[in-house]
Amino acid sequence: MPKRMDKSEILLDFGEAMRRGDLYPCYQPQYNHATGRMIGAEALMRWEHPEFGPQYPNDFIPVLEDAGLIVSADLHLFEQVCAFQRKCIDRGLATVPISVNVSRIDIADGTYIDQMEDIRTRYDIPVRLLRTEITETSASGGLELIASAMAKLHDAGYIVEMDDFGSGYSSLNILKNLPFNIIKLDMRFLDSDPQGRGATIINAMIQMAKWLGTPTIAEGVEQLSQADYLKSVGCSYIQGYLYSRPIPADQFIDLIQNAGLEPTLPALQLVETMDAHRFWDPESLETLIFSNYVGAAAVFSYEDGNVEVLRVNQKYVQELGMNVTEERIVHSPSWDPFDDENKAIYIQAVEKAIATGDEQTCETWRTLTSDCCGEELACLRTTLRVIGHADKQAIVYAMVQNITAEKRRLDEVTQSERRFRFASEQANMYAWEYVIGTKQMRPCFRCMRDLGLPLVVNNYPEPAIEMGIFPPDYADMYRDWHRQLEEGVEHLEAIIPLTVGRVPFHVRYTTEFDENGRPLKAYGSATMVQE
Ligand code: C2E
Ligand code: MG
Ligand code: MG
Repeated sequence: MPKRMDKSEILLDFGEAMRRGDLYPCYQPQYNHATGRMIGAEALMRWEHPEFGPQYPNDFIPVLEDAGLIVSADLHLFEQVCAFQRKCIDRGLATVPISVNVSRIDIADGTYIDQMEDIRTRYDIPVRLLRTEITETSASGGLELIASAMAKLHDAGYIVEMDDFGSGYSSLNILKNLPFNIIKLDMRFLDSDPQGRGATIINAMIQMAKWLGTPTIAEGVEQLSQADYLKSVGCSYIQGYLYSRPIPADQFIDLIQNAGLEPTLPALQLVETMDAHRFWDPESLETLIFSNYVGAAAVFSYEDGNVEVLRVNQKYVQELGMNVTEERIVHSPSWDPFDDENKAIYIQAVEKAIATGDEQTCETWRTLTSDCCGEELACLRTTLRVIGHADKQAIVYAMVQNITAEKRRLDEVTQSERRFRFASEQANMYAWEYVIGTKQMRPCFRCMRDLGLPLVVNNYPEPAIEMGIFPPDYADMYRDWHRQLEEGVEHLEAIIPLTVGRVPFHVRYTTEFDENGRPLKAYGSATMVQE
């Protein structure tokens, strides 16, 4: 009865399964959708358990990886693939290159590639009949290990494919840094775009020049419409249920014999410069990638302060947060949303990017206009990089991030901070409380700090007069105020020069009374008189 084996069953049975020959490859052919011919195949591991039936890699491979058993499983599979090719060669049958999956654990095992080579030599298989696939997520632990494994594979003559492109976090970064020969674009990852991924990918996207020449195989293609679409954007190599599920060796041999075949993909070298025309050709693969694998981005030409937006992607429009179409952005005059100051900032960044060839970042405000939202001011952080030249024009790739909210928050903080400081500095207010019955004065924090007063001043106002806060010529008047407070005056005010500097202050008292109308406290304040 078929059953999914659990982890302990997998580990317990693995050795026996290897000996019994329960682990074997199925082959999934790859086609050129433009010609209908087969171009290769991928070997996918299957485990046929005598009791539990077929087991699938997504279940058992992670278990084998964790236990370090994947290395022997993969070598076992590789040997069977070599045996398959040997059989075709010996029988004079047609065959195609077959790619094998190389696990990150295989890569970490320093001897894996040597062992592969031993097997290949033993079966005497030309390296062009084999390819290797490394998933991009293998790179998550660092690129060094993969880089050296790739160099070894390249030295031996293998084509190295990047499996599951787009599944990881920084696909383009990896592509930029590692010389993959072929990209495998998984259609299952194309549909969904988990939040945030594009933003990181985009930083590496500017390095498109490095990899635009890399051929691509789309996998997981199930529908004819998908394949047609891929073909229309320049990606004709297809692997997926549309053409065939992974099938056992005997069926696959038959399939090859009856299929038209095409020579192996040329192992194109990565190009150093980008073919700019392809980049904005809506029918190109670059367009597919621009639309799906990067964050908010625009491409424009620049010459002498003149900007012409050539392309923006959907995410760019979303980033602006406005209800406008991509066409509208491309077709409206590029500088319209900028005022002179922001235009100058932007131009300066573009010209620096052109002059240095380095990435430049600027932050500019612009007025965005749409039919439904009217006008709105937005701040965009733009990272600019020159990706090509056409005549005297520079072609600039711009990645944008809408930072309006961030800016506004920051502005609010600085504004209120500034207002606060301004207010207290300008007001220059000193306040205190005078308890009429006890002649005690309680100063505010500022009085204490600036005038050196204690928490409670007894026998007020004498100490203040003694300290020279109230100058001698005003001392009697001020003493008289406190007599008046005892008598129940409601309000007193005068301009008095205070301290040795005789700075004119507006000094006021307001009296608080108890329920019988007797004076309790007086609230004093001194505010610097504005010039
Ligand atoms: P992968 O290398 O990306 O292989 C492609 C997977 O997509 C295969 O799953 C294949 O059966 C499946 N697939 C192909 N066409 C379609 C389609 O049109 N629609 C859908 N929904 N799926 C499609 P499979 O065979 O289950 O393998 C899963 C993964 O396990 C592989 O992904 C690979 O990462 C790993 N794996 C498979 N065989 C081996 C192996 O021999 N060694 C190692 N280390 N890993 C392997
Ligand atoms: Mg694969
Ligand atoms: Mg894949």
